[in-house]
Amino acid sequence: MQFKDVIGHQNIKEKLIHGIQKNKVSHAQLFSGDLGYGTLGLSIAYAQYVLCLEKKENDSCGTCSSCLKINELQHPDLHFSFPTVQIESNTSNPFLSHWREQIKKNSYFTLLDWTQAIDIKGRQPIISVFESAEIQRKLSLKSYEGGYKITIIWMAEQMNSQCSNKILKI
Ligand SMILES: [Zn+2]
Repeated sequence: MQFKDVIGHQNIKEKLIHGIQKNKVSHAQLFSGDLGYGTLGLSIAYAQYVLCLEKKENDSCGTCSSCLKINELQHPDLHFSFPTVQIESNTSNPFLSHWREQIKKNSYFTLLDWTQAIDIKGRQPIISVFESAEIQRKLSLKSYEGGYKITIIWMAEQMNSQCSNKILKI
């Protein structure tokens, strides 16, 4: 997903791009906004720009090997964590194909859309302490492409305190 695929937010996009061009990529970034704001799209576009091998002035190139992998949400240095229904799986991994499908369909989805996509019973998904172990494991792996490693945590507010305490250090 490129910045051009996210509607509006020109000022934010410019700030994000400027930061990367100045080599100021902080270890954590919070993308906060109301429903329909496009925070997930912005965070993916940001990750794509960071990892792009042929950065353009105003966006990632969209055609380098890194961009192509991110288009498929299959880049080995870009990970995702998101809420899951614990009784089905306490980590994100088994839901990755649903996740890719959902983003490709429409990146402006809500927690309710996601719940309906992964659980016919509509049970409340959370990010649990088991996921925090996965986040730490993924970020401790060596970078596949030799650059940044990124984990996008969607709906971080669904994290329980056990999980958030565990990832404080990283
Ligand atoms: Zn690129």
